[in-house]
Amino acid sequence: MRERLAILIFALGLGACGHRPPHIDEQLWVYASRFEQDLGIPVNVGMSFVPQAPMILGTCWMYPGDPMANYIEIDPAWWDVISESEREELVFHELGHCVLLQEHLTGTIMDRDGRWIPLSIMHMFGFGDPAYTKHRAKYHRGLKANRSIAGEL
Ligand SMILES: [Zn+2]
Repeated sequence: MRERLAILIFALGLGACGHRPPHIDEQLWVYASRFEQDLGIPVNVGMSFVPQAPMILGTCWMYPGDPMANYIEIDPAWWDVISESEREELVFHELGHCVLLQEHLTGTIMDRDGRWIPLSIMHMFGFGDPAYTKHRAKYHRGLKANRSIAGEL
């Protein structure tokens, strides 16, 4: 009995220390691993497809005091119709909440093309292209540093 208990505890310890959490959907892991590579920050929260309320693409459920318990839900119907870059923006936005513990950073600024663009990937509305792809690196740096991209335009 004692041996069995010891084995169980060891297994749990391995699960907690493993690089890749067990509850990230394969499709979403493609983008989560990109977040890890681009920002150099490990993704230690779960992610799965769960239908959301109308107009909601995704949700980060946060557990203050226990951020390892945070998890992300992505709406499967929206996922099917949004573009590749919108998928990345969505996953990075939710990881901004759940992994980086950031709040929304709303507001817009005019870029050099005279186009109004969001100050951050943490804007509460998804914005997509052309702004996202054009300013992708700035948005990622801004996300990592928890600041707007205004200083980089
Ligand atoms: Zn959000």
